[in-house]
Amino acid sequence: MSEEPCQCPDCQRFYREHDRLIRENPSLRQQQELNWAALQSFRTLAGRVLEELQKQYGDNETSVPAPAEVAKGETSEEPDAMQQAMADLENINAHLFSIEALMERIFDVRVPEEVEQKFREVAGELAPDPLNADRLRLNRLLHQTPDLPDHRP
Ligand SMILES: [Zn+2]
Repeated sequence: MSEEPCQCPDCQRFYREHDRLIRENPSLRQQQELNWAALQSFRTLAGRVLEELQKQYGDNETSVPAPAEVAKGETSEEPDAMQQAMADLENINAHLFSIEALMERIFDVRVPEEVEQKFREVAGELAPDPLNADRLRLNRLLHQTPDLPDHRP
C-alpha cells in the first residue's frame, strides 16, 4: 500500500527541509509566523529586483525598440531575455500579492492552548529530531549498504 518515497538528492533535501520546518515551528502560531515571514521576504526581494531591472532596462512600456533601432540591428537577445524575466517577475509579484490576501485569513485564526499542544505532539511524531540517538542509530543501519564509498574494500 505505501509507496517508497523518491530518494533522489533533491527530494531528500526537500524531506529534510520539510521536517526541519515542522520541528522548528511545531505550533499553529509558529507556522503562521514562518509562512508570513517567508511570503513577505519573497515579495520584498522579488519586488526590489524588479525595480532595479526596470531602472536598468526600462519598464515594459518603453522597452519596445524604436523601428530605427531595429533597422540598424541594435537589438540583441539580451534585452528580450530581460523583458521576459521582468514580465515573469511582475507575474510572480502579482501572484504573491494574491496569496498574501488569501493568507491573511489563515493568519487571523487563533486556537486554544490545547490545540497548540496537539500541534506540538503531532509535529514530534512527524518530524522527530534527527540528532536523537535512536534515530541516528536507525539511519546508520539504513545507510550501511555496499554501494557507499566508505564500505568499499
Ligand atoms: Zn526525487
